[in-house]
Amino acid sequence: MTYDVLDPATEKVVRTVELADEVAADAAIERARKAFDSWRNVAPADRGRLLRRFADAVDADLENLAALEVENAGHTIGNARWEAGNVRDVLTYYSAAPERLFGQQIPVSGGIDVTFQEPLGVVGVIVPWNFPMPIAGWGFAPALAAGNTVVLKPAELTPLTAIRLGELALEAGLPPGVLEIVPGKGSVVGNRFVTHSAVRKIVFTGSTTVGKQIMAGCADQVKRVTLELGGKSANVVFADADLEKAAAQAPYGAFDNAGQDCCARSRILVERSAYDRFMELLEPAVKNFKVGDPNDPATEMGPLISKAQLERVASYAENPAFQGSAPAGPGFWFPPTVLAPPSERAAREEIFGPVVAVIPFEDEADAVRIANDSEYGLSGSIWTRDVGRAIRVGRGVEAGNLSINSNSSVRYSTPFGGYKQSGLGRELGPDALAAFTETKNIFISTED
Ligand code: NAD
Repeated sequence: MTYDVLDPATEKVVRTVELADEVAADAAIERARKAFDSWRNVAPADRGRLLRRFADAVDADLENLAALEVENAGHTIGNARWEAGNVRDVLTYYSAAPERLFGQQIPVSGGIDVTFQEPLGVVGVIVPWNFPMPIAGWGFAPALAAGNTVVLKPAELTPLTAIRLGELALEAGLPPGVLEIVPGKGSVVGNRFVTHSAVRKIVFTGSTTVGKQIMAGCADQVKRVTLELGGKSANVVFADADLEKAAAQAPYGAFDNAGQDCCARSRILVERSAYDRFMELLEPAVKNFKVGDPNDPATEMGPLISKAQLERVASYAENPAFQGSAPAGPGFWFPPTVLAPPSERAAREEIFGPVVAVIPFEDEADAVRIANDSEYGLSGSIWTRDVGRAIRVGRGVEAGNLSINSNSSVRYSTPFGGYKQSGLGRELGPDALAAFTETKNIFISTED
């Protein structure tokens, strides 16, 4: 079975990709299982060296990877370069890990007690279409560093960069089977990762609905699972903030990657006394947000990923307060859109498109209440010049990744993940390694 990969900016077919069926998925899992026997025993320094070579190969191929992502996912060229660079950086970061997977020596009576951090086996990584490269790298880099092998399923819509990363791994000298890229359908290949007993852990990034199915499926074998799911993050703007800066950066927080970002600040909460001024500043920032040719370095937003996504997004965008502009088509274009006030549905559900809801609040407690009035809890921002308030509100908001006076979400060296229905577990940073190992305890008697 094959799948025609489209360029979402032109709707032209750019490549036809072979999709794995269940037999092919099983064969890939079996290759990864066999490769695990030797990969886990590669000397830590050598495993680190191979990951650094893989990082170097990604760096050497950066322009090609970025061009592939522009063509396959409609990402702006600036974003696509950052994303390829992020895979390089995540690999480099975790290349130091094999020699630092320390166990403990624990004081006990009658002997010596030590722990070992051991790899799990084959890890199944299931990736969505919105950030195909970074999300693949966040899964495979720590998994491989900890001595696991990986089977990775890209999203049907966006398999091209994952396929290329698999080739680069081989070119860099990673043994065959250590990183298997298995393009295919979620219901076939993704589901096989969940049900196959040789796959010991699933790292899933995607919608909360599918995440729940995967978690339920993993329960059958008590399979380990990390989930990175949806979001409806709040961008909280207090009247004492640098309103010019907050308004100038709000479009980026909401519309980056055409709003197809789990960390999108898709609700802007504004203190009522600053509401009118903020809206005055926001309107030109939204109208000037540059939407168009993803290959133009000045472009800030490209197309949506698909016709289905375009229709879904449009269904939320009734009665906008104001909108930016977007090309007419071909391509899956939608203009940056501000809803003020939003419908209940638009204020609550993850839209995953360039549509932002603006909601006034009365005071600090009201801001925290509205921010937390969501089943999600992934990200968010707080804009204020009052340090104490920034920390109070930051501690009060139930979300895994917050920024003060900034919209940034992701740094490869810091933990990333969600509260509530935004996920389970953390990726990136030093803590992610624990999710790819089992702790083994061994007691050695010193008695006669
Ligand atoms: P999706 O849930 O439809 O698909 C994600 C992946 O799961 C795809 O590879 C798909 O083929 C696969 N899949 C689908 N059904 C499956 C099944 N039954 N068994 C196994 N695998 C299956 O999500 P999407 O539309 O590709 O991505 C958008 C969603 O991802 C949004 O909700 C977004 O918020 C979320 N997301 C979260 C993060 C995060 O880090 N929290 C990051 C990016 C995206």
